[in-house]
Amino acid sequence: MHADHGKKWYQDAIHYWKGVDATVDGVLGGFGSVSQVDTSESRAFLHHVLESQRKRTHGRGGRTRAIDCGAGVGRITEQLLIHVFDDVDLLEPLPHFLDKAKENLARAGAWDDGQQQQGTMRSDGHRVNHFFQMGMQEFVPEEKAYDCVWIQWCLGHLDDQACVEFLQRCKKGLKDGGLVIVKENISSKGIILDREDSSVTRPHSCWLRLFKQSGLTLVKVENQRQFPRELFEVKMYALKPKC
Ligand code: SAH
Repeated sequence: MHADHGKKWYQDAIHYWKGVDATVDGVLGGFGSVSQVDTSESRAFLHHVLESQRKRTHGRGGRTRAIDCGAGVGRITEQLLIHVFDDVDLLEPLPHFLDKAKENLARAGAWDDGQQQQGTMRSDGHRVNHFFQMGMQEFVPEEKAYDCVWIQWCLGHLDDQACVEFLQRCKKGLKDGGLVIVKENISSKGIILDREDSSVTRPHSCWLRLFKQSGLTLVKVENQRQFPRELFEVKMYALKPKC
């Protein structure tokens, strides 16, 4: 993609999301009702892959850490990641979503916004540490920092090259035994371009090619179940660095 065209592509997406309410219903395109079943399948998938990785790496000491990429209003962190990992970071370019995420996570006791009353933080010590206000295309994760990089419903905003480069940086950001989890809509045939929100929906074969080009191999792939028929098929991919 030509650099100027690339810039416009991202600006159009930002413009689209600026007009969307900072609510779960907003970030899920009016399908807020699927949030519960989405996170419950994700939870089962994550536990399964973490368990198999733990067996391989024999567990490790220290705090566990995850990052929620294209986090929106912090839905996945609040519903899932903060319950599993000690520390969670969020990456999201839209300030009104990030502000809402901070509000939601402070209410959930996972973020200290400076107004927390003593004793209102989570008793398990899990917390949100960093909010990065930027796009995936600009983000360089700290090396060997994360046990899990969660990327859901946002990779369509990157073209193939930016997607591969981002996944390569994510790979470097993994601790030994860490995983990248990608959960995305799947088109049944060919790449579908959405000019309204400046995104593409890719078929399964395309995702496999991009993962391969990024130096990631598939640990597990599963279909999301129980979504309304009118929605795209959704797949969860657990990926680890190719040895
Ligand atoms: N993953 C969240 C939000 C999905 S909506 C969830 O499942 O609840 C898609 C999100 O991607 C929006 O919050 C949007 O602002 C964000 N986004 C758009 N372009 C992006 C980019 N280039 N990099 C990172 N996030 C982006």
